[in-house]
Amino acid sequence: MPELPDVEIARRDLERWAVGATIVAAQCGDRYLLRPGSPRAFTRALVGKKVDAIERKGKWLRLALNDGGRLFSHLGMTGDWVSRPIGAPPQRSERARLDVARGRRLSSVRYLDPRRFGRLIAARRDIPEWTALGPDPLSDGIDLTALSPALAVRRRAVKELLMDQAILAGVGNILATEALWMARVDPRVPGSALRPSDVRAIVRGLRRAIARELADRGPRGGGGEGESAFFVYGRRGQPCPRCGTALSSVTLGGRTSVFCPHCQARRR
Ligand SMILES: [Zn+2]
Repeated sequence: MPELPDVEIARRDLERWAVGATIVAAQCGDRYLLRPGSPRAFTRALVGKKVDAIERKGKWLRLALNDGGRLFSHLGMTGDWVSRPIGAPPQRSERARLDVARGRRLSSVRYLDPRRFGRLIAARRDIPEWTALGPDPLSDGIDLTALSPALAVRRRAVKELLMDQAILAGVGNILATEALWMARVDPRVPGSALRPSDVRAIVRGLRRAIARELADRGPRGGGGEGESAFFVYGRRGQPCPRCGTALSSVTLGGRTSVFCPHCQARRR
């Protein structure tokens, strides 16, 4: 599932392809992706508008249009934006098309989504899914004075808290797993039991995990080639890169969490 770094790569791509350009054609026939909107409303909201900015918060993208309108895009499980020559025939998993013009140069930006868990919402104002998000670790930074109390009052496992989009936007299973390993914190520890030094270490871990993934994926990543860069994610049973102990796993909030039983031992 795309996490913050994947969506940030998509944002940078879209910025290159669409910012400053005018949308000359817009089409999406998939009512499920558009819900609660419609294909007609999608086209009407976008055609003739200039794209002023592409912003990201957590796993959501927001295309800001010059008339104040916005297009929100969530990649779901398998969504991706790609650039194609104008008039290129649609691919099998193509769900939406934006033809854009910069001066006389035309190109086509397509939204692909084989499994259709993504969303495309054209709106006049910010949608609740966007406004409910907590700060984004990359674009907003992580404010320790806000994060520490948010974690300290909760009895849920720290791993689940980190993945709560209202606490931090964009952190998913991969980033949380990697950051907790870097911080040497057991993923099952309740938020209320964290020491200030744990929270600082987790924040450092998140920053480092995000930077590593962004560097790894490069300007046009995808395809999971970054997976080799993970310290512990997806490596249950393999030796811990730090101490050599076999990595273990636990299910928290329905997601598998890999950790080192030695380095991330729970304190008594
Ligand atoms: Zn270890």
